[in-house]
Amino acid sequence: SVKSYSMMTRTRVPGGRLTSEQMLAHLDLCEDLANATLKCTTRQALQMHGVLKSDLREAIQRINKMHLSTLAACGDVNRNVMCCPAPLNDSVHVEMRALTDALKDHLAPRTPGYYELWIQDEESGEKTLVGGGEPEEVEPIYGPTYLPRKFKIGIALPEDNCIDIYANDLGFLAVVREGKIIGYNVSVGGGMGTTPSAAKTFPALAKRMAFVTPEQAIGVAEAVVKVQRDFGNREDRKIARLKYLIANEGVEWFRGKVEEYYGEKLQDCTADEVHGFDDHMGWFPQGDGKFFYGLNVESGRLFDSEDRRWKAAIRAICKEFNPGVHLTAHQSILFTNLEEAALPRLQEIIKQHGLPLTEEVSTVRRWSMSCVALPTCGLAVAESERVLPELMSQFEVELAKLGLESDAFTVRITGCPNGCARPYNADIGLVGKTKAKYTIFLGGQLIGTRMAKIYKDLVPFEEITSTLVPIFTAFKEHRQSGETLGDFCDRVGNEQLASWSEQLV
Ligand code: SF4
Repeated sequence: SVKSYSMMTRTRVPGGRLTSEQMLAHLDLCEDLANATLKCTTRQALQMHGVLKSDLREAIQRINKMHLSTLAACGDVNRNVMCCPAPLNDSVHVEMRALTDALKDHLAPRTPGYYELWIQDEESGEKTLVGGGEPEEVEPIYGPTYLPRKFKIGIALPEDNCIDIYANDLGFLAVVREGKIIGYNVSVGGGMGTTPSAAKTFPALAKRMAFVTPEQAIGVAEAVVKVQRDFGNREDRKIARLKYLIANEGVEWFRGKVEEYYGEKLQDCTADEVHGFDDHMGWFPQGDGKFFYGLNVESGRLFDSEDRRWKAAIRAICKEFNPGVHLTAHQSILFTNLEEAALPRLQEIIKQHGLPLTEEVSTVRRWSMSCVALPTCGLAVAESERVLPELMSQFEVELAKLGLESDAFTVRITGCPNGCARPYNADIGLVGKTKAKYTIFLGGQLIGTRMAKIYKDLVPFEEITSTLVPIFTAFKEHRQSGETLGDFCDRVGNEQLASWSEQLV
């Protein structure tokens, strides 16, 4: 018998910005060649699952024909560059989007191999559309050996860390004065993945390194990539991410090397630091007379079932309004460039397809995220996406009983410790450890600037809610004014939480 291999494709979408045409073509593609669903990822990309190996070439060609690419959506190179997806037209957002595109182009792999393997017509040798830069034989930045490991970049604002800047290998935090970006505080060495069997691995938030002017940003990004290329660990892939180099050598050593490669001393970071987060859900003006609507998509999964028709709703919206379709880092979608009068009809379409308006989604569900996990991620040891809706329903009931239904905090669940849904800096992180059992992390925060700590290990799925209800109760009883759940857990500590929890059970 002939085996059928099922594959995943990931489409790189810099800053999450798609046109209606690209979204419609992707919806067609997932129906023609994949499992008829699309996953909006936590890094503003699109994934298709269940693509047969024999259909892979056609899938990748069709993605390139959309003027998108799967090149550098994966692999040991710079991956999808993340940036705030809000379609605001002030000079700050315009410049951040320009930097996103410039970084994507500058750090794009130049290999002709991708085009030869996937794009070029086998008989004529003619290339169909190319989604990346012109191929070259020599990699000017990556060299013959590429990077030791994957590399991720994010661009954010202090008041809006919606892309989770410190989870990235390289971050650019915009420093704004009088409505203009005067530069960026650059951070290095963030990354979520761990390997449970290797104690030497750990998740880390990036560390602030130096301030760069807008003119220096690309050159410094290249220098950071090259230092990691030359000094990152090449013996052991488990400890090859930039975070391990920074942990071993220190951020000052790393900055010195970056300055050496860049050829100039850099200034110290300014005091500007992340202090806010906006998920852009709901109806907002863009600043140019047009409006956008953020639609919350649970777990980022677009499917059509009998009662919920995400794909059909998106098709109807794209066909009627031709909006921009922007993917958020919280797995949701912004429909952009809408007329002010469009809102009632847009909401009607959403409702007609059995979907909740963002305004109707509970706070806890709105701020939740899950990775793909079972059945399509080969690394999953536990459920994630498929159990999140049930878990959120349980949380909704318990939080309402306690009067905490309006408190915003993040719950993020993953099917293994790789941490694709960034559980380690969430208020509540649930990490699949073994079949149907999870490690519970507490004490991160919505704005993404603090790591959570292990509260309990190997908690069976059906005991997650009952384990957390005493925490919610203690939060209600002992919180300080204005304190968030993560801040509370971090302040009182896991020992105190466990002791309160025992008293309450
Ligand atoms: Fe797969 Fe693990 Fe990533 Fe989830 S966290 S998508 S299970 S690799």
